[in-house]
Amino acid sequence: MAKSMTSPIKQRDGSYAIVLEKALASPEELKKIAEVMEAFGVKIIKFTESQRMVIVGIDPERIEEFCEKAGVKVAPATGKGVRSIKFCPGKALCMMGLQDTIAMAERLMKFEGMELPDKMKIAVSGCPNSCTEPAVRDIGLMGEKDGFTIYVGGSAGRKPRIGKVLAEGLNMDEAEEIVEKIIEFYKNNAKKGQRLGEFIEEIGWDEFEVCVLG
Ligand code: SF4
Repeated sequence: MAKSMTSPIKQRDGSYAIVLEKALASPEELKKIAEVMEAFGVKIIKFTESQRMVIVGIDPERIEEFCEKAGVKVAPATGKGVRSIKFCPGKALCMMGLQDTIAMAERLMKFEGMELPDKMKIAVSGCPNSCTEPAVRDIGLMGEKDGFTIYVGGSAGRKPRIGKVLAEGLNMDEAEEIVEKIIEFYKNNAKKGQRLGEFIEEIGWDEFEVCVLG
């Protein structure tokens, strides 16, 4: 699947910040990134809410070289399309976790950067505590005892909107398949600049449900 959005973000001093695609890293990978940062004179690393590393203060001419040496890729993090998947530690690490959020998020990362009529935020939480706030994302997956529940059409920001439950009790294959159908249907039918929630409101819930669940 093509990833065409790019993420270098210009800083006040003319340098750039890049968001890395990598959401999980081993100590060896972190050491390598830190060594290349030192060699390039880059002093700051921060983390996004979707657990991505941001390398701040890089020379724009050397981004490609930096990525090659550090063994990393720039994430497709901005613009109209699927943003970096936000996920919590889930049952692999959190005592409250009911579902494997890391494995679920890794499956959904194939959609990151896909161009769409407007931005699309996707979040995965491992239990109803909802640390990644799936009910206010365009697509939110919430782990429950019997599988994932999918919320659609939520958003935060200027026009807050609570998503609606589309399907429940899903295993990872089923959840991935439904997310793909939602994205394809939205991509092919929504107007430019229309968020998923607005699109659903326009066409009506019943039609949306039939089109994505078949
Ligand atoms: S949503 Fe649940 S599983 Fe995920 S971090 Fe929060 S408490 Fe843990």
